[in-house]
Amino acid sequence: MKKLIVITGASSGIGEAIAKHFSELGHPLLLIARRLDKLKALNLPNTLCEQVDITNKATFEAAVEKAQSLYGPVDCLINNAGVMLLGQVSEQAPAQWQTMFDVNVMGLLNGMQTVLAPMIQANTGTIINISSIAGRKTFGDHAAYCGTKFAVHAISENIREEVADSNVRVVTIAPGAVETELLSHTTSDNIKAGYESWKDSMGGAISPDDIARTVIFAYNQPQNVCIREIVVAATKQQ
Ligand code: NDP
Repeated sequence: MKKLIVITGASSGIGEAIAKHFSELGHPLLLIARRLDKLKALNLPNTLCEQVDITNKATFEAAVEKAQSLYGPVDCLINNAGVMLLGQVSEQAPAQWQTMFDVNVMGLLNGMQTVLAPMIQANTGTIINISSIAGRKTFGDHAAYCGTKFAVHAISENIREEVADSNVRVVTIAPGAVETELLSHTTSDNIKAGYESWKDSMGGAISPDDIARTVIFAYNQPQNVCIREIVVAATKQQ
């Protein structure tokens, strides 16, 4: 019997690809995002789709409780939902920094707190946090986004150490540029155009499926093996 996997941000891009890969392996799923119609349109078997803004911890917890009543305990949480609003700090609206820290950092902490206590008690479980190569090095116009993703690495590694004795794994996966909707929310047309030509210069971004395969690889290791961190990017990305 395959165990329950929770995936945030499954309504598009990387999260959607991760959901399809785990479903093909026969796992029951809880899919979370704000666009419920997009989650339901995936039409995956043994799947509960819940409209959750991950910055709201109470609705996150309620969705996990509902899924557990259907499919048993959560074996893996994939904190994938994220927002990238590129901009120069001298010009960018502070509300955009706030949104990124709320979703990319607070939302991720909300997810971890929701599942960690039962995992520690059960002496098993896996949390996979989707960070970014922008959590390992900086890029122009990425200051606040890089801040959130460097935080994801720090938080993940710290929690990995905290829960290691309980046989719970915390894995950080840091993708390079991936072809998704992520850039579309940036408001500066100049920055968006620059990003697109940067992707062209590396022969194109990698695909959400490339990241989904990486997630499955990390999850499918034996429970006593924790891949702490993977950076995965286009071969030609600098
Ligand atoms: P997408 O924009 O395609 O997907 C982002 C997902 O996050 C959507 O499903 C969106 O769903 C969800 N989301 C955003 N805000 C919230 C919220 N408040 N509550 C719940 N869900 C939310 O981008 P990607 O697939 O590319 O991004 C996935 C992750 O990968 C992000 O963490 C991103 O930072 C990371 N990443 C992406 C890279 C890339 O180049 N694409 C590179 C490195 C890392 P909805 O709008 O329906 O709520």
